[in-house]
Amino acid sequence: MYNPKSLKAEEFISHQEILDTLEYASANKHNIRLIDEILAKARERKGLNHREAAVLLDCDIPEKVEEIYSLAREIKNEFYGNRIVLFAPLYLSNYCVNGCVYCPYHAKNKHIKRKKLSQEEIVKEVIALQDMGHKRLAIETGEDPTNCPIEYVLESINTIYSIKHKNGAIRRVNVNIAATTVENYRKLKEAGIGTYVLFQETYHKESYEKLHPTGPKHNYAYHTEAMDRAMQGGIDDVGLGVLFGLENYRYEFTGLLMHAEHLEAVYGVGPHTISVPRVKKADDIDPNQFDNGIDDDTFAKIVACIRVAVPYTGMIISTRESAKCRERLLNLGVSQISGGSKTSVGGYYEPEPEEENSAQFEVSDNRTLDEVVNWLMGLGFIPSFCTACYREGRTGDRFMTLCKNGQIQNCCHPNALMTLKEYLMDYASEKTRKTGEALIAKEINNIPKEKVRKLVAERLKLIEQGSRDFRL
Ligand code: SF4
Ligand code: SF4
Repeated sequence: MYNPKSLKAEEFISHQEILDTLEYASANKHNIRLIDEILAKARERKGLNHREAAVLLDCDIPEKVEEIYSLAREIKNEFYGNRIVLFAPLYLSNYCVNGCVYCPYHAKNKHIKRKKLSQEEIVKEVIALQDMGHKRLAIETGEDPTNCPIEYVLESINTIYSIKHKNGAIRRVNVNIAATTVENYRKLKEAGIGTYVLFQETYHKESYEKLHPTGPKHNYAYHTEAMDRAMQGGIDDVGLGVLFGLENYRYEFTGLLMHAEHLEAVYGVGPHTISVPRVKKADDIDPNQFDNGIDDDTFAKIVACIRVAVPYTGMIISTRESAKCRERLLNLGVSQISGGSKTSVGGYYEPEPEEENSAQFEVSDNRTLDEVVNWLMGLGFIPSFCTACYREGRTGDRFMTLCKNGQIQNCCHPNALMTLKEYLMDYASEKTRKTGEALIAKEINNIPKEKVRKLVAERLKLIEQGSRDFRL
């Protein structure tokens, strides 16, 4: 029985409701009248439900698909402007007791090097990340209560926040660890985390159980209800995601939106972010062993349809994807990207020796952060290192209310310019600095309120004189 308000996984992600939705979408994919109605609703910027969005995803009428893309671009532009927020992953440990068949950290992999960073190593890694210019991290671990208990994660978060090297600081630590208890989520909240991220991998229960044959992650309900426990533990910014390629993408897309609707229905606040990873090659993992791989065009359409369906939710794309693919998706709805990433345990302070490969997946975009910043500016985007909302207490429904009122715009643009200026002063190459200064000089004129424009101009001068960490 489908019930978005239920706290039971199989009721808020009802298999039957997904099947009915896919049938409805397939039956209506050429129903121009209905498609026009859905597009008209989406144009009101109020989002779409999973059934409506599924029809758009299925629609293959070229003019209508073009309309979906153009609406996604419009919404992206209206809500996020030309800013792209940057972050980096930091893998703390790859010990794992689970048997996920798509990840090289699975417990049966006996040849991959197992590593766990000590607090001293974390300090070195974080200084290296600060010296690149990063302000926002996503920490990642495998699941292993013995080798990587919650106390270790909490201690590591504390270490990360405490490091102040030159003008560097990590101002927001997002956390991607295995599904856990309400009590542990509360501890993470108290440690000051930003978003709690947990990918569902697949919403299809039967496939989920096959893809997770052993370990605690095998429990579909416990995994799927993790965001509820996170919310109950006080974490109000949560990040959803599926691993595209494991199951039919239309099924996953529908499940993902149903999950977002569930959070909205029960807690009054949808997901803070949605990530869209695709299965990639890694140590003993060949992506071709999975039958549901999606091509770049389908991937772009998924991103555009998510953008149109949940306009207030940030969308993240990692360095799993190539520069070319990321460029296309930036215009269609992605608002956050990682840059200069290492997907191994350690590797920022000094490169990992080849024989010690501990990477979770192969990175397709290997450029340095400076190259990514420069590239973004060349494409007309403002690279942003902003972390203001979380630090100003704008999380959960407070963030969403501001966002829905369009007010966030008045903060994001100035904050992007001020944090970019910090980056240019402290970390950029000469070439990037020149491009960035010209961009700031141009973009400051796009701050609508004169009072804010003047304030930002003053603060940019103060940053030049050595002050840091201004935010609106
Ligand atoms: S996906 Fe996560 S839980 Fe599964 S094997 Fe990899 S690290 Fe472990
Ligand atoms: S002001 Fe808030 S929403 Fe805007 S970029 Fe900064 S942290 Fe994100």
